Order: sequence, then structure tokens, then C-alpha cells
Amino acid sequence: MTDFLFTVLKKEITMDTLRDLFVEELKDLYHAEKQITKALPQMAKKATSGQLREAFESHLKETENQISRLEKVFKELDLTPKGKRCEGMEGIIQEGKTMMQELDKSDTLDAALIAAAQKVEHYEIASYGTVRTYAQQLNLKNAANLLQETLEEEAAANEKLNDLAINQVNAEAMSGSKDENE
Ligand code: FE
Ligand code: FE
Ligand code: ZN
Repeated sequence: MTDFLFTVLKKEITMDTLRDLFVEELKDLYHAEKQITKALPQMAKKATSGQLREAFESHLKETENQISRLEKVFKELDLTPKGKRCEGMEGIIQEGKTMMQELDKSDTLDAALIAAAQKVEHYEIASYGTVRTYAQQLNLKNAANLLQETLEEEAAANEKLNDLAINQVNAEAMSGSKDENE
């Protein structure tokens, strides 16, 4: 968050309204994560590279755990976990689906899958960074720690995709060769 925005928030938003904003963002993330648990198996199915498929499958498990972390945060606020339509994630996933339909099961598709997945991770990194900071400002230490844990997982997932793209998938997309360990 920029210093300017931070000052504005501190001055003009009372703790009550920052708490409201916090809850709204949590609901958005809750729905975003639910959408991701539906998209990841489809992405794994489309992946040609065995390593990429495994990356999607292991991130699905992480995502399920991230959903239970969000549920813990809701509980800490004495709220029933509830989602609110996340249009951002809907758009990112829809764009990925359109791309998947346009490409065959190929190494180029793997590169496109990574691109879509990294957009998902960046949306999550932005959102978890925000809610983690809100939790800190609201003095909700437990919630802040839970959200920080997820933030780190999302960053690691993004790094893993980066490595796969650089070391394997993009090179294969350029040469048009197929992954051997399918
Ligand atoms: Fe996530
Ligand atoms: Fe959203
Ligand atoms: Zn993620």
C-alpha cells in the first residue's frame, strides 16, 4: 500500500469501516478460492508436462487448506464463512478457458496454462497482501498470521510456475517438442 493511501485509510476510515472492508475482501477471496478449486483439476487435465500437472494438483491441495484458513478467520470474527461473487477471478478463469479452447493439447497449451495460472496467483497475492495488512491494522494477530501463511503459499506457487515456464515449458513451446515424461 502506498504511504498516501495508508494515510487516507488511517484518517478517514474508522476501525469499524476498515473491519467492514476487511470482511468484504475476505468474502471475495472465499469465492475466488472456491472457483480456483474447480478450475485447477481442469487445468491439470489439460497439462502435457507431468511436472506442470503435479504443480496444479499440489496447488489444489494447498487451495483447499487456504479455504479452511479463511473459514478460521471468519470464525475469529464471529461470522459464518460466506462468499461474495468475485468477478475478478471469474474473468481471469474465463479468459484462461477461452485460451484453452483455442489451443490443442500441446506444449504451447502448457505455456498458456502457466500464463493463466500466474494471473490467478497474482490476483491472490494482491488480495491476501491487502487482507493481511488490514488484519494487522485491526490488531487481529491470529488472522494476520493465517493470511500471511496463505500469502506465502501463493507466492511460492507463483515462483514454481515461473521456474517451470523458464526451465521447461516455454523452451518446448518454442521448439514444438513434446514432453517425454508424460
Ligand atoms: Fe489460493
Ligand atoms: Fe475479487
Ligand atoms: Zn493460488
